[in-house]
Amino acid sequence: MLGLYIHIPFCKHHCHYCDFVKTVPRNQKVVDNYINKLVEEINSYKNYFDKIDTVFIGGGTPNFISDDSLIQVLEALKPIKTKEFTIEINPESYTEKQGQIFVKYGINRVSIGVQTFNEERLKFLNRAHTNKDVINAISSLKILGIENISIDLIFAIPGQQLSDIEHDLNEAIKLDIKHMSYYSLILEENTYFHYLYNRGLFSEVSEDLSGEMLENIIRKLEENGFEYYEISNFSKPGFRSIHNQIYWKFDDYIGVGLGAHGKLDGVRYYNERALNKYLKNTLYEKVELSTDDMISEEMIMGLRLISGINISNVESKYNINLHQKFPQIKEMIDLKLLTEESGYLKLTKKGLFLGNQVFQIFI
Ligand code: SF4
Repeated sequence: MLGLYIHIPFCKHHCHYCDFVKTVPRNQKVVDNYINKLVEEINSYKNYFDKIDTVFIGGGTPNFISDDSLIQVLEALKPIKTKEFTIEINPESYTEKQGQIFVKYGINRVSIGVQTFNEERLKFLNRAHTNKDVINAISSLKILGIENISIDLIFAIPGQQLSDIEHDLNEAIKLDIKHMSYYSLILEENTYFHYLYNRGLFSEVSEDLSGEMLENIIRKLEENGFEYYEISNFSKPGFRSIHNQIYWKFDDYIGVGLGAHGKLDGVRYYNERALNKYLKNTLYEKVELSTDDMISEEMIMGLRLISGINISNVESKYNINLHQKFPQIKEMIDLKLLTEESGYLKLTKKGLFLGNQVFQIFI
């Protein structure tokens, strides 16, 4: 499998928790210059076009740019025939005209930034949409024939209680969508929340409460027909994200755009993260992955999947014995953070909450 990720880094404003590569454009000229460069970069991968299985346009806010700018990108992608073509959107910028453009260019999956249905907390996060925007966008996309809709939600927002999670889950289930990504709020450096934290004005939700929240999320979504298939992802049967599975299964992917990265034929590359530098020269650096790097990444990414890692596949791919290579696996099994079942190594329920502790042994 080969995926193509395209980064559109523009946003209306900055959300308080966000550390993605993004910028608020000063004017249309900034966007035009970027899109021209992006299209040039997309075209530089023309030789791979017939091998690409999935395309994912992410951001930033890909639907914040004008229809003309979006069409310019989509025209460049037209020769690629994909199994899954996703675009991320923010509900407040969505228009029916955009939905029509998505359909015209073969976009068959839309991922919507919702985060919570509590409008006070949306303000706290500095999000710009309302619940009505979410409902309108989803109903318009469904009318246009886009059934494969995913939403992003966040838990462990300061002040949130289990009853708030219950409310968000009920609202999310009512939307009758195919996929949900449910992330725990992470306090990232260089965000406004981190600035508040350093001044004692922001307190994180305790580990116990956040663990309980995740447990409730898993239970409720499973009761409502969702499969829990990755640490932060749930889908109705048949609607797992094909693109994201490329990352978790350690397949190759091309990343284009500001701050994007890719992995192709054993080489990982990183694009420039500063707009002015990217416009001059897209690439920041290329790193040839050693066998140890690859094993380590494959283990960490693969363990994110609830089904875990097929032990014999990894052992034969790299000609290793997993237990000899990582003797600490036994320790993790004894601590009940990892388990081996039917030839798969996977995180236990306890391990899901303490994933980072487990991943350390593969670094
Ligand atoms: S809209 Fe998305 S990318 Fe933009 S600032 Fe908010 S979270 Fe970050």
